[in-house]
Amino acid sequence: MTEEELQSFVEKISFESFQRPFFHKAKWNNRLKTTGGRYDLKTHDLDFNPKVLEVHGEEIFSKIIKHELCHYHLHLQGQGFQHKDSTFKQLLKQVGGLRFTPPIEEKKRLTYQCKKCGQLFFRQRKMNTKKYACGKCGGGIVKM
Ligand SMILES: [Zn+2]
Ligand SMILES: [Zn+2]
Repeated sequence: MTEEELQSFVEKISFESFQRPFFHKAKWNNRLKTTGGRYDLKTHDLDFNPKVLEVHGEEIFSKIIKHELCHYHLHLQGQGFQHKDSTFKQLLKQVGGLRFTPPIEEKKRLTYQCKKCGQLFFRQRKMNTKKYACGKCGGGIVKM
């Protein structure tokens, strides 16, 4: 999933489950360890952990997106957006979001990303980034 695809995936879920648009940015963040996603109170952007998608697949990942979108929409509407707030618990249940990120087992896999389109690649072995280009757009590849 490229970063562009992640963005449209989040926008789609926002429309379908919340009937509200998502106006900000969704990005991959490889520094997230045990959390699946993060909502930035200042920029209103959402960060997601690429390992969750890799390990648990798209369905679980979409429920993590719903969780972060609960923070997002409630915060923008000036309602209680924290885990302890009843408005948060209620909305999370309503849209079917996950309360916690399921454990991400440490796989000995390396994550690479296309510099141009943000496509992710998972490899068992170290790869020579100078030799390879992104299969989607031909951009250069970097290790995350
Ligand atoms: Zn949360
Ligand atoms: Zn690319």
